Amino acid sequence: MTFPQPLIDGYAAFASGRLQTEQHRYRELAEQGQSPEIMVIGCCDSRVSPEVIFDARPGELFVVRNVANLVPPYTPDDAQRAVSAALEFAVQALKVKHIVVLGHAQCGGIRAYAEPGKPLSPGDFIGNWMALIAPAADAAGPAARFASPGEYLAHLERVSVIKTIDNLMTFPCVRILVERGRLTLHGAYFGVALGELSVLDRQTGEFHPVK
Ligand SMILES: [Zn+2]
Repeated sequence: MTFPQPLIDGYAAFASGRLQTEQHRYRELAEQGQSPEIMVIGCCDSRVSPEVIFDARPGELFVVRNVANLVPPYTPDDAQRAVSAALEFAVQALKVKHIVVLGHAQCGGIRAYAEPGKPLSPGDFIGNWMALIAPAADAAGPAARFASPGEYLAHLERVSVIKTIDNLMTFPCVRILVERGRLTLHGAYFGVALGELSVLDRQTGEFHPVK
């Protein structure tokens, strides 16, 4: 069993490049702990790395990634809830000032919901997870209303970002801080092919490209 060579090579490039310029900052962060002001909820998709897109330095972004950048609604129970735990830590312990839900084009998770195939496993973890998209799909309306399946998916990807923000607001710790003006929720959308970033106007529900 060998450790993947691209990771060995990548680390060598990091160690001789970026680490040199960031060494002081890493040492400081190790001693003082992290205090990021921004949490990003992104997709696992290998093309949509928040740290790359936002050119983030170490310690700047608190990132949670899952299939299709979703947040299940607040459910106080004993189940292991990874997103809820990360959210609680970000909001209560780190006291982040912003949460950004970052959706993206050609999201495989969104497509898995819209075009369901055979489950990959008896547990159908993807199917169960993607059921969280249902409220966004209801809001997006029928696929037939759109000129093409691609257009429908692009719309559903954006509506899902809005629904994820709605779900964030079901967490009492989030809602209270938002109402007090100490936490702001944002939506964004990354167009993979052109690398274009759009930001959600929460008043109109429209996404506008960042210039
Ligand atoms: Zn995705």
